Amino acid sequence: MGKGPVASAGKRHDTGAANVGWIVVATFLALLALTAALVAAFRNSTDIADRFARAEERRLAHRFVERSERQILEAAKLQLVWDDAVVRLNAPGAESWARNFIAGYFWGSHRIDRIYHVRYAGNLVRCWQGPKLTGDCRYDQIERTVRDLITTSMRTTSPGGKVKEWRKHGEVMWPYDSKGLPISQGASALISFGGQPTIIAVAPVLPDVTPSLLKGAPDYLVVVRFLDQHILADLQSSLLLDDVRFGHVPDTASARNDLALTDMRGGTVGWLSWRSKPPGPAILRQTAPLLAIYILFFVGVVAGGAIIVRRMRRTTSELMASEAQAQHNAMHDAMSGLPNRAHFMQRLRQELATCVARRELGDVFVAYVDIDRFKVVNDTLGHHVGDELVRQVALRLRRSLPAGDFLSRFGGDEFVLMRRSTGGRASADMLGRQIMAIAREPFVISGHSLEVSLSCGISWGPEQSEDPGELLRRADIALYRAKQRGRARYRRFTRDMDASVKLRREMEMELRRAIARDELTLAYQPIVNAADGAIEGFEALLRWPHPERGPIRPGLFVPVAEQAGLMIPLGEWVLRRVFTECQDWQGCDVSVNLSPLQIMASNFLQMIDDLLRETGADPRHYVLEVTEGVMLDRSEHVVEVLKGLKYRGFRIALDDFGIGYSSLSYLRSFQFDRIKIDRSFVQNIEADLDAHSILRAIVSLGHTLRMKVVAEGVETPMQRALVQAAGCQMIQGHLFWQAMPASEARSLLKPDVNAQASGISRVANG
Ligand code: C2E
Ligand code: CA
Ligand code: CA
Repeated sequence: MGKGPVASAGKRHDTGAANVGWIVVATFLALLALTAALVAAFRNSTDIADRFARAEERRLAHRFVERSERQILEAAKLQLVWDDAVVRLNAPGAESWARNFIAGYFWGSHRIDRIYHVRYAGNLVRCWQGPKLTGDCRYDQIERTVRDLITTSMRTTSPGGKVKEWRKHGEVMWPYDSKGLPISQGASALISFGGQPTIIAVAPVLPDVTPSLLKGAPDYLVVVRFLDQHILADLQSSLLLDDVRFGHVPDTASARNDLALTDMRGGTVGWLSWRSKPPGPAILRQTAPLLAIYILFFVGVVAGGAIIVRRMRRTTSELMASEAQAQHNAMHDAMSGLPNRAHFMQRLRQELATCVARRELGDVFVAYVDIDRFKVVNDTLGHHVGDELVRQVALRLRRSLPAGDFLSRFGGDEFVLMRRSTGGRASADMLGRQIMAIAREPFVISGHSLEVSLSCGISWGPEQSEDPGELLRRADIALYRAKQRGRARYRRFTRDMDASVKLRREMEMELRRAIARDELTLAYQPIVNAADGAIEGFEALLRWPHPERGPIRPGLFVPVAEQAGLMIPLGEWVLRRVFTECQDWQGCDVSVNLSPLQIMASNFLQMIDDLLRETGADPRHYVLEVTEGVMLDRSEHVVEVLKGLKYRGFRIALDDFGIGYSSLSYLRSFQFDRIKIDRSFVQNIEADLDAHSILRAIVSLGHTLRMKVVAEGVETPMQRALVQAAGCQMIQGHLFWQAMPASEARSLLKPDVNAQASGISRVANG
């Protein structure tokens, strides 16, 4: 029934789409997280770089201050190890000597702001401001520091391995080197002097040549250097800093960096600050374009992904819609919406099996119904009226019969009904009467009041047969009898009716004879281009003009031939005929219908090869039409045969698409060249919006699978417009041409006739 595969295919698509959706969402989130992490890491690393850079600035500034301190101390130590200084500083005229050689020197060479001459004990002798001797010494502000520094210098300055001996000078022990000279020891510190950060250094005055000049403890000189603008400018230029300032409180501005200056006792003297130069912003500036490109790329990837997913979703939902429809089609008749033959047989099999297993449940009644003289209605009032009549009969049956009855349409004007009931014949009679009753009132269709009658044949099982096929056949025979009796009545199946099996056998025999006598012929129906109506090909259709009974339709005798095993020789006959008759038909192709039985036959390809050799026909000239039913059984073998045909050059069309067993799975299992949309489907599209959108879906599916789509049974300009709008490239139908004898078809091939073919409805004997 095609239900299983179709349903599971639908589910597969469902979960497939959901999976893809999740993958994309996950990818999106992952990319988003990655980008966020990247940006954060990047920011973090510039922050770290900034922190390092600020620490480094502070370290360098600190070193600069330390170095300045050391330089001053070293300069003082150097200048004060000098015999003259030992002698002159304490001799008469010391002031004028010191003005030139001490204060003048320190001021001129090292911009020392103040100099103090003190004793070892820290008492002040005299002081200079710049190069000048001054009385305003403010020594009290630094006296304690000076004493501490002198003590410190004696303790911390380690003359190391240079010390040869220690000699006593007054109350101190002084170190001497190997040359017998006293070793200089000094100390320096940072202090706040008058609220200003200041470098202070102390160094002893010692002889450099004549050690004996040093009698008691040495005198000291104290040098004081304010950290003034000069030093700050020096720091600014040597460390390449901007806007260096001194302040008494830390500078908290975010763009600035600062360094606390501390004195020897750990107290804060003040803060140096400057405009910081963190590398972060520069790194950001340089990498921003890269980052922007990355983000753009990311956005692009996500947007592209989203578009792809939307496309996939849409395609998937279209596929699902057409599969769901195919599933519905598989079980329902397109025109009436009633269950179809396949669906009916499935139910009949189930019901019958239940009743066989539990006889107390009664019987399954099968009623075969058809509309009397339906063909006349169709031929005189048109197919529209015929179709509408079928719809109204379906509606009345549905409404007047109990809901438990299972009503189906087998096609054309044939309805088959199933009812479960007890009571044998009496129940059959009741069912028959109920069915007859629905046609008592006339049907009103587009202004016509139609007096229509129905015929009906009824059988029931398991009483009459336990086999569903046989039960249906018996109902059919009963129907045939009802018709024989003059229509407008129902008949129960009775044993004696089986005689009509003879009738079937008769038809078989006649068919055999007709084949043997070559009484069968082929009619050709043009297939035209949807856009301009030009003839693109023909479909060969089998005709049996019966000498006594008039023309018998293939719909009637093809099944008989199939049942009787005649379809294989008949099919061969058709192929031989087409291969010979149409060989010289230029500029068009010829389609031939293949019966499933032919394809199933094990020697089919062999037969084709023999025929091709015999007739010399070119396979590329022919399209072979197979119905959907052929794909149902032993489809592997069938696909092999179809591939073999294709390999030989034939094109393959899938016939009657849209009814019966439609399942998309076999559209995937074999690359058809064409799909032919069934005419019951086409004839529905004017009235049924759904049918039209399904047609669109089928056509677009066909295009996706690289198949041409042919619409069959186009009878009205409206149908033509609709199938054309849906994208069908080819049309076959009475709007253009009916089937015609080979000679007539051949005459159409002349270019001039071909050109005016568009839109003309021609009726030939078909
Ligand atoms: P099919 O293959 O679907 O053939 C198309 C049928 O639609 C033909 O019916 C054709 O006359 C009819 N048709 C075309 N245009 C219109 C239209 O506009 N309106 C209506 N109402 N009908 C239209 P036909 O000739 O009665 O054939 C019936 C079926 O018998 C075919 O259906 C095909 O399945 C089968 N058949 C015919 N010839 C052969 C054959 O040589 N071999 C086999 N195996 N089957 C054949
Ligand atoms: Ca066909
Ligand atoms: Ca068809």
